[in-house]
Amino acid sequence: MKPLPILLLISTLLYSLCSYLQNGIPASYWDWRHELVLLSGVQLMTVMSAAMLLATRPAWLEKPLSGLDKMYGLHKQLGIAAGILLASHWLVKLSPKLVMAMEWAAPRIKRSGGIKDPLVSFAKDVGEWAAWAVLAMVILALLRAVPYRFWRKVHKLFAPLFLMGAFHGLILMPRSMWLTPVGALMAALLMSGSICAIYSLLGKIGKSRKVNGHISQITPLPAQQLEVICQMDSHWPGHQAGQFALVSFNPSEGAHPYTIASAPRKNGELRFIIKALGDYTRTLPQDLKVGGKVIIEGPYGCFNGASHGPHQAWIAGGIGITPFLAWLESPAFKGQQIDFYYCVKSAKDAARLEEIQAACLAKKLRLHLIESDAGQRLNIAEIKAETLDDIWYCGPQSLGKAIGEHLAQMSKPPRFHHEAFAMR
Ligand SMILES: Cc1cc2nc3c(=O)[nH]c(=O)nc-3n(C[C@H](O)[C@H](O)[C@H](O)COP(=O)(O)OP(=O)(O)OC[C@H]3O[C@@H](n4cnc5c(N)ncnc54)[C@H](O)[C@@H]3O)c2cc1C
Repeated sequence: MKPLPILLLISTLLYSLCSYLQNGIPASYWDWRHELVLLSGVQLMTVMSAAMLLATRPAWLEKPLSGLDKMYGLHKQLGIAAGILLASHWLVKLSPKLVMAMEWAAPRIKRSGGIKDPLVSFAKDVGEWAAWAVLAMVILALLRAVPYRFWRKVHKLFAPLFLMGAFHGLILMPRSMWLTPVGALMAALLMSGSICAIYSLLGKIGKSRKVNGHISQITPLPAQQLEVICQMDSHWPGHQAGQFALVSFNPSEGAHPYTIASAPRKNGELRFIIKALGDYTRTLPQDLKVGGKVIIEGPYGCFNGASHGPHQAWIAGGIGITPFLAWLESPAFKGQQIDFYYCVKSAKDAARLEEIQAACLAKKLRLHLIESDAGQRLNIAEIKAETLDDIWYCGPQSLGKAIGEHLAQMSKPPRFHHEAFAMR
């Protein structure tokens, strides 16, 4: 089962059980409304706290969640789930207007003489302001037209919004609930999420994993690709072939993820091959200069070839060649039967094709160059998945999805490892 359904299941079961033991089954519309507002609040804080934790890029979660690229995928799912739960929380809260207008339930008889607690009123207002802002942010994230650069800056607001939501939950959860297991869960979530939010506000995310270096070589490659060699200082912790890093050539732009297209080298060099896929990457050929400073955070990711079955297929699509370039440079890959499918527009557009051909020859890999301009397409049936132990894929999402769907139809599919090349 995937992490998001597990989190929702745990919080729902725990809340339902504690509420049933405390209050029994809700008897009226008003009781149901009260329970549903609290349940959606608990679910919401569960997914928001998990999203906040993932935003801090915790290295200890990389292995169980298969790498930072997949963690960002989960972070996105949690963000969408938070938007839906927030809308439900709010709609249930506002439902009396409709229910009363339609006369579906009797009006609530309010106890008279109660004085409004100003802290409770303030917590309600804070929750409402945060809700508007979070909903707007979720919609912004889903609008592809919003540039990633702008979205990344706005996204930083999530930390203070989380703190506002935590304050709202802390004040509005009934006192009796705090003494139950769901109260303990909420306390742990609010505390851990708030610590992560403060960590983010203090600008500490990834700080301990940042290392300085400088650009030592720049080589333009065909099809708007640029090879950049960075010389790291002695603090670079080393990496496994196939991992990626968050690379910042320009502090005002911030870091972008690129695969380290080289195996660990003794001289502390890291190679990147960057394709002009968007606004910023298009400016790199003019902006990068030999000797220019670079800050690299990492390494991250689990696309490291650690699962070594004797029969493998490697599939690279376009710039998805970069982790395989690192593997081909690494002495770790030897002795397996590997078919390597490299899908490109045409051979002249392929990055470092001669290097790849020479390495495949030396390591006895069978290289299949698939050129779409020549009318060739990767036929998934032809890779004979039933004879394989592992398939490693890096390239466009559409091809990865097609491979995944093909494997899902098999009774005994090989292990399928893929690198998520997009974080949004
Ligand atoms: C794990 C991983 C490894 C990658 N390895 C390589 C590689 O080896 N070579 C290569 O050419 N490209 C690689 N990419 C893709 C590369 O990060 C994007 O092409 C680049 O960031 C686009 O930036 P842009 O501003 O030019 O494009 P935009 O048009 O602004 O962005 C296009 C898309 O790129 C992604 N993106 C943009 N900025 C960032 C950022 N700061 N942080 C995270 N994602 C961002 C988003 O998904 C965005 O929707 C990799 C991506 C990931 C996630």
